[in-house]
Amino acid sequence: VAGLMHGLVLKALGQNVLVLESRQPSELKAQAAGLSLGPHAYELMKTLVGGNDVYGLHNPASQILDKGSNVVVELPISTAVMTSSWSVVFDRLKSKFEMDEELKGSGIYETGKRVIGTDDTGTSVSVHYREGDSGSEKTVTAKLVVAADGCRSSIRQQFVPEVQTKYAGYLAWRGCVAETETPEALKGAFEGKLVMHMPGGSYILA
Ligand SMILES: Cc1cc2nc3c(=O)[nH]c(=O)nc-3n(C[C@H](O)[C@H](O)[C@H](O)COP(=O)(O)OP(=O)(O)OC[C@H]3O[C@@H](n4cnc5c(N)ncnc54)[C@H](O)[C@@H]3O)c2cc1C
Repeated sequence: VAGLMHGLVLKALGQNVLVLESRQPSELKAQAAGLSLGPHAYELMKTLVGGNDVYGLHNPASQILDKGSNVVVELPISTAVMTSSWSVVFDRLKSKFEMDEELKGSGIYETGKRVIGTDDTGTSVSVHYREGDSGSEKTVTAKLVVAADGCRSSIRQQFVPEVQTKYAGYLAWRGCVAETETPEALKGAFEGKLVMHMPGGSYILA
């Protein structure tokens, strides 16, 4: 979503923006249960996407539980954090980016286009990409290129090859339960709270 966020800001500033996404629409699915919007992301959603609380829940407090699920401490969160989901944020950003004609620039979002390299010509940047279906290689020219291709960014590798990803020693499992299937006893229990359970050697964030 960082690419779409940059695209939307640039479009609002009057630029004509093209987003090249390597995945196909069927592969663009939520890969995580929840997505927390920090102050800057929240401000961007509020200013450029509109609405207020419809795309997420405010979390004014954080609760830490011990091994026996007892509340050890409940702390107010100093910065505004809003809990939403990847698909809600992605869908809203994408429709605003593609559809909003009131913004000054234009926004085109193309899927199945894998960027394979860039060349700085001095006055512009050539972006080379591969088409998903045909595998044919194409080039598009831009004044500015933003690489938002994730933590294993191949574009970053082109510029700073010495920066390598390193296994941090832990594994994250993510999951979600449909609201309709949530047991009665749990309903509302997490509302307004980021709950952290620390059973030792691992931690659960709900
Ligand atoms: C477990 C976990 C939980 C997290 N929770 C949060 C959270 O709650 N809130 C938060 O703000 N951050 C969170 N983060 C961090 C957040 O996911 C990253 O900072 C953010 O996804 C980076 O944005 P991005 O758009 O660059 O990368 P991504 O979200 O990884 O998106 C990269 C996109 O680029 C595409 N792509 C990759 N290579 C190419 C290519 N060569 N050409 C074209 N397209 C390409 C991919 O298909 C993908 O769609 C979390 C991270 C993890 C691992």
